[in-house]
Amino acid sequence: MHVLRSPDEAALRIEQTIDRLVDVLPPIANVLSAFKKVLAESARIKAEISFDGGFAPPAPDPLRFEQGIPAGLGEEGVARVSSRLNDTAQRMISILRQSFPLLSANLDRLSAGLDREGWNADVFLRSFLADRNLAAAALAAEVQVDEKSVLFAMTAALKPILEKAAELIEPSIRELTWLKGCCPICGSLPELSFIKPDSSRRFLRCSLCAHTWCFQRMECPCCESGASGSIEYLYVDEKEFERVEVCNKCMKYVVALDLRKCSDPPMLELAAPALLHLDAIARLRGYHPMATTMWNGLDL
Ligand SMILES: [Zn+2]
Ligand SMILES: [Zn+2]
Repeated sequence: MHVLRSPDEAALRIEQTIDRLVDVLPPIANVLSAFKKVLAESARIKAEISFDGGFAPPAPDPLRFEQGIPAGLGEEGVARVSSRLNDTAQRMISILRQSFPLLSANLDRLSAGLDREGWNADVFLRSFLADRNLAAAALAAEVQVDEKSVLFAMTAALKPILEKAAELIEPSIRELTWLKGCCPICGSLPELSFIKPDSSRRFLRCSLCAHTWCFQRMECPCCESGASGSIEYLYVDEKEFERVEVCNKCMKYVVALDLRKCSDPPMLELAAPALLHLDAIARLRGYHPMATTMWNGLDL
């Protein structure tokens, strides 16, 4: 069940948790502080969205879905999400400008580009859902801004809307079987892998729409290799519940939590950014992130 909070409560919850994390995670305190307002605004926007009257997307064809074709947003979902994209993008851009002043010139150009005649949020969204790097590259060329900044800002803009839409889509796939490592709703790779204490089953959290789904314990979500020796865990310090799961076949990694060993379970929304120090360890050993996220995609 999704907990409903007021926009202010949702934003405050993020800010207070980041304040606590900053105190206990000095190596990544700067990055977490920079993201505090961005993630709080994202939570606020998500809590504000009601999708007037909601929308119930048609259930996906079970055969196609079980063969690994994600449910997607459906036509109505695409229309609902894209209709909010411009306003949300301008709001997020103004927060990003405050939090990342080095990007302000790029963000100004992007903001003007989204206001121009001919910009079509619906076309952009469809292209983003098919391949976000390609969609960002095309928009970057149109507005004369580097691709990384565009991907960063447009991901920030779309996340709260897609997260809300995913909550509405989830009931239509709840009873269906999904065995892939990419998200059953939007098709993105995970930002986090975690083991639940009650069932000892492994779950993945989508890097874009935040949906979570169950996945094989010893399989790589990216290349789906389950060969012995291909998955390894990297740990740091004495925190045995935090680790990086690396794949020696495709050389990708995903940060992970074993909640069975965790007495004070973290907020899942902030778990991946709070594990950013583990990203550095995996990268030093030659692995690459499975999914580009806002916090691992920029050289901040
Ligand atoms: Zn997703
Ligand atoms: Zn792999």
